[in-house]
Amino acid sequence: MKIKNYINGEFINPISGEYIDNYNPSNGAIYSQIPNSSNEDVALAYQAAKKAFPNWSKTSLDKRSKILSKIATLIEEKLDFLATAESKDNGKPLSLAKAIDIPRASANFQFFANAITQFSSEAHESTGFNAVNITLREPIGVVGCISPWNLPLYLFTWKIAPAIAAGNCVVAKPSEVTPMTAYLLGEICSEAGLPKGVLNIVHGLGITTGQAIVSHPDIKAISFTGGTKTGAHIASIAAPMFKKLSLELGGKNPNIIFDDCNYEDMLETTVKSSFANQGQICLCGSRILVEETIYERFKADFIKKVSELKVGNPFETDTNIGALVSKQHLEKVKSYIDIAEQEGGKTLFGGNEVAVKNSEKGYYLQPTIIEVSDNNCRLNQEEIFGPVVTIMSFKTEKEALELANDTQYGLSATLWTNNLNRTMTITKQLKTGIVWVNTWLLRDLRTPFGGTKASGVGREGGFEALRFFTEAKNICIKYE
Ligand code: NDP
Repeated sequence: MKIKNYINGEFINPISGEYIDNYNPSNGAIYSQIPNSSNEDVALAYQAAKKAFPNWSKTSLDKRSKILSKIATLIEEKLDFLATAESKDNGKPLSLAKAIDIPRASANFQFFANAITQFSSEAHESTGFNAVNITLREPIGVVGCISPWNLPLYLFTWKIAPAIAAGNCVVAKPSEVTPMTAYLLGEICSEAGLPKGVLNIVHGLGITTGQAIVSHPDIKAISFTGGTKTGAHIASIAAPMFKKLSLELGGKNPNIIFDDCNYEDMLETTVKSSFANQGQICLCGSRILVEETIYERFKADFIKKVSELKVGNPFETDTNIGALVSKQHLEKVKSYIDIAEQEGGKTLFGGNEVAVKNSEKGYYLQPTIIEVSDNNCRLNQEEIFGPVVTIMSFKTEKEALELANDTQYGLSATLWTNNLNRTMTITKQLKTGIVWVNTWLLRDLRTPFGGTKASGVGREGGFEALRFFTEAKNICIKYE
């Protein structure tokens, strides 16, 4: 199947006529072809967005909200179809795409359909000066949204929905390895009555198409989710052009477990926080730190639970772990298992590729647990972004905190304890943007989302996203 660019409400071929093969990770077969878009395609998308902006930015909030709601409804109605496309494109279990990815994509539109009706300008009366300040929040114009492959439609819409809700027009690029649901979103937007040019989707490689969006002089804001290295590169291009930047980057998140936690809850959730979506979630707890007093018990129970997970075809209902997103990514993740051996890490479970019946060419890897003793090892310092976790023990609260913070990343952390004082002491000192206590990945879309240190700049979610996608203009009026 040939995917096309969605520009000015039309599906069109790339100007060069060139296409790139896209693979189904569950069987290694070519699944679709995507446009290899260039600067010229991005320029065309920009022109469409620019043309649509004057009308869209003046469209009433009520109308914008209704269109976003309609998109949310259509996504919900096409749940099975979209989930199947996502699973084929990404390799994730169909059950996960049905339960998480697609419902959340719909929720993103519904959330911002509502949020925009509650987002308001501010007024400050300058008492004593006979003056009043009105702070308007104006749409920026044409903005760029670039998203990764791990939660394709989920993360794509998490950017697009607030951008268009706030009155901007968008040039967006999904990951080249998971383009399908972004392509289908174009159809849905047209069906929902989104005016032509408000959303333009350009497919292609990060280094060409993505970079053309970032470098375009008139695309004034870039919302990017992806790797830290790419984020730094994007910042180096966008910063001298004074673009607004939101960067959601990598993580190496600690999962800190104390012996006073609810053990069964912790164990069950830790299996998910380690291996959900094949460990390819930026929020996965890839460094498990366990209090010495329960370390051996945890180790035995965790290995047992993980050994019961089924690695298999994403379309089988009892599959827990599907395929990794690409051959290249599988090789990268496997290289860390070799690194572990060189560094003296001990593989407690997994470490091998899995040959899945009738899908022998798919990119499957066992969930892998590696015991390490030094937090400075590469395994504990570098983002692997696959089904590989490390475990190590700690003795004191102080040591747990030091280990948790001892990384360049600062996206999220999970803490398991029933001690309130410990909860407050630790959560206040963790250098991350997000902390979960006695849970993981429980998301309220009103809350700020994002990381510190090398995990990013800025926050998404709720009004934070609407603030990012608007410029504040203060008007000070003096009266007699
Ligand atoms: P990449 O950084 O490789 O790519 C992300 C997106 O950027 C893709 O669409 C990619 O296109 C594009 N891109 C690549 N190079 C450039 C460039 N020079 N200019 C503009 N765009 C470019 O990340 P991955 O897709 O590999 O995603 C995994 C990463 O994303 C992990 O590090 C993960 O932690 C992070 N992530 C962070 C989240 C957060 O909220 N903090 C959430 C989810 C993931 P293409 O695919 O075509 O190369």
